[in-house]
Amino acid sequence: MQQNREEIFRRIKVENWDLVIVGGGITGAGIMREAVRRNVKTLLVEQRDFAWGSSSRSGQLVHGGLRYLKQGDVMLTYHSVSERESLVKELPGLVNPFGMMMAIYKGKWLDRLIVRAALLTYDIMSRKFRRHTYSVGEMVSRFPGVRAQDLECGLLFYESLTDDARLVLRILQQAQEEGGIAVNYCRVTGLLKESGMVCGVALEDRVTGDKLDVHARQVVNATGAWADILRSHVRRTNSKRMRPLRGSHLVFSAERLPVSQSIVMTHPRSKRPGFVFPWEGRVMTGDTDIDHTADLDIEAACTPDETDYLLENIRFHFPDRNITRKDIVASFSGVRPVVGSGKKDPSSESRDHVVWLEDGLLTVTGGKLTTFRLIALDALKAAQPLLGRLPDLDKKQRIFPPVKDIAPVPADLKPETVFRLQGRYGDRANDVIAGARAGELEKIPGTETLWAELRYAAQNEAVVHLEDLMLRRTRIALLLENGGKAMLPQIRAICQPLLGWDDEKWRREEQDYLETWQRFYGVR
Ligand SMILES: Cc1cc2nc3c(=O)[nH]c(=O)nc-3n(C[C@H](O)[C@H](O)[C@H](O)COP(=O)(O)OP(=O)(O)OC[C@H]3O[C@@H](n4cnc5c(N)ncnc54)[C@H](O)[C@@H]3O)c2cc1C
Repeated sequence: MQQNREEIFRRIKVENWDLVIVGGGITGAGIMREAVRRNVKTLLVEQRDFAWGSSSRSGQLVHGGLRYLKQGDVMLTYHSVSERESLVKELPGLVNPFGMMMAIYKGKWLDRLIVRAALLTYDIMSRKFRRHTYSVGEMVSRFPGVRAQDLECGLLFYESLTDDARLVLRILQQAQEEGGIAVNYCRVTGLLKESGMVCGVALEDRVTGDKLDVHARQVVNATGAWADILRSHVRRTNSKRMRPLRGSHLVFSAERLPVSQSIVMTHPRSKRPGFVFPWEGRVMTGDTDIDHTADLDIEAACTPDETDYLLENIRFHFPDRNITRKDIVASFSGVRPVVGSGKKDPSSESRDHVVWLEDGLLTVTGGKLTTFRLIALDALKAAQPLLGRLPDLDKKQRIFPPVKDIAPVPADLKPETVFRLQGRYGDRANDVIAGARAGELEKIPGTETLWAELRYAAQNEAVVHLEDLMLRRTRIALLLENGGKAMLPQIRAICQPLLGWDDEKWRREEQDYLETWQRFYGVR
């Protein structure tokens, strides 16, 4: 990724842009990738860090979405299943197939019938018949402590698991290698207009405070839950269309909640499905789905009520494990960009994406992590009147070229680690390994991350603040107690010289990071 901000801003000023994308989440990254490969000169700007919005706070599933099928949204499920299958093929090591167990309890014959029908439809859509029924005994050994009373069986089906922030970075990396520019901590503060039509953006570099105007043939508003804010700059538009919905997750140690696969658990009160699943050496549970009325510029956090709700589900389904607040390692919360239709139950609002063209501003919002490529292609179709005809918008091309073999693989690196690195960094996995100093090909205790990944990120991945490194380049903040505070001296030894920060800057960054962690990622 581009590192040198001075050089980036010099280029932003002197080059002519076809497309400016506002928002560095999965939607913006996907559009950038699909635009750049069609020779559209593209600039992406993100007000905080890449993936800072909901794209680093999702349930980490690249999935078809059984829930959407149940709601009758067959096309969304079909597209999601098809995208899931493509991503599993293209991104081994970053998007990996993943078993999910549905616990079936006695007496719920209608539920059982519906679930079986849904799973069959799923298999038909993916043309893979991988369902399996597990006995109560098998369920109990796979999910120690699971509620066995009235348990009839478990139904296993497959989805895929990812690291959402790394997925965004991988897409951005690919788009930048092919000529696009993406810059973080750069906010759009206004829209430029000619004869009432949007023709560019007013930018503020949030590192230096510098301001500049950038013209473009098309401006895309890919700001997710923030979409209405940018839309409010467009003359004719003053109606709010977004319904930001907060979703929270909790992270536990795998010793306290040992599960080898994901289990889907219906909440005893709300009857909404929740999950417990292994992730990056820890175990995660989620999620909630409630109206988020707070200021979107203040980071979302899991409230005490949400923590209670999530714990209640775990305690109900794992009654013997005595899980309490003390067992929570970290929490995180994101705001779903959902288009509101006034439905009473937030969970029944559609999760499909929308594309709106208003006075030259193209807003692309809603949707899911899973369907980012389809969203991008739809956005570019709508941009053709201003960008000109773009080739192959109906053809699904590979997002990522195949990754070359790593040679030579150091003897102490296990094949699964190489696989993981190639998924996350593509051909750059070679650089991660080659740059490692003695001992840095070992994992940071309690995580799947190598010390060498920190070195690589500090050197190559546009880290502006310590939280970028801890929360999104790596997920240390979510995986280690107190946000990995105990590891900071070792992290500093590797990263401070590479980031060019003096001792005072490191001290401030550390303080800011720990405060952010306490406020938004700790336990309430
Ligand atoms: C709890 C939860 C669980 C989810 N689980 C899943 C899942 O398992 N699978 C799945 O497929 N999907 C899931 N989703 C949905 C998915 O995460 C979102 O649909 C997706 O991340 C939206 O991406 P986006 O790029 O549109 O928005 P975002 O990722 O929010 O990106 C928008 C970006 O725009 C930036 N921005 C805003 N205003 C400005 C400005 N003025 N200037 C510059 N930048 C600006 C923001 O800082 C933000 O980073 C989940 C979502 C949540 C919240």
